[in-house]
Amino acid sequence: MSTQYSPAHPSYILSNTQGCSANGEAVACYEVGLPVFEKFEVPVTLFLNTENIGGQNYMSWGQLKDALNRGVDIQNHTHSHSSLPTLNELEIVNEIEKSQKLILENLGITPNLFAYPFGENSSTAQNVVSQYFDAAFGQHSGAFSINQKYFIPRFPLNENYGSIDRIKDASSVLPFNNVDIQPSNPYQIEPITRYVLDFQEDASNINCFISDFQGSFNQTTTNLSSKLLIELNRLPVKGRLRFNCTKVNNGIFWFGYQYLIN
Ligand SMILES: [Zn+2]
Repeated sequence: MSTQYSPAHPSYILSNTQGCSANGEAVACYEVGLPVFEKFEVPVTLFLNTENIGGQNYMSWGQLKDALNRGVDIQNHTHSHSSLPTLNELEIVNEIEKSQKLILENLGITPNLFAYPFGENSSTAQNVVSQYFDAAFGQHSGAFSINQKYFIPRFPLNENYGSIDRIKDASSVLPFNNVDIQPSNPYQIEPITRYVLDFQEDASNINCFISDFQGSFNQTTTNLSSKLLIELNRLPVKGRLRFNCTKVNNGIFWFGYQYLIN
């Protein structure tokens, strides 16, 4: 079982809200996790993909109803758990409407938060999601910024990254005021090597670590006042491309971004 923590604290998310893995309907969350969370009064959010409910090792609607009655926050994670950038707009709408309908029919609630399957999204997916939800979570590390409320970072807390120090670090990261990253579409059909990040503050003490499935990049970074111009030393490979930029100044400021390369 893994849990995830997001430092996102808009007023409608409970402080220190924890997700019991992105696929929160795993029955271990209910049988093993929930009593522990209850004992220590940790608020829990489950993101459901509705197609799995009642399947082997997954919670039933009855168990979900019980969890809801015990104070668990239940939110949306699509119907089929498909990676949204691979779907067209109508297919994304169908994923959301089908899962919202099933959750309303079975639990009597309408989720207002969303988590992208695999944390993967695109400009199209964000536009659709913003019509149904107040905010949406990715699966990349970083601090929450109100300017990114449809691509909110969250930290994995699992067997490898679940120590108490890790939880303290993850919950204390600070956001930059506003970061503009170009290209802004998190889905890239043609991979590129050039990126521009505008931190809207002096960028000279900001360091970016960039990696994909092949490993980390040795990029060339040019600092132009508030901007970092980044040239990767090779094309990113198919899959996830992650940017993690940090600045240490009375705490750790952390900007994270995840691209999906087709
Ligand atoms: Zn998932």
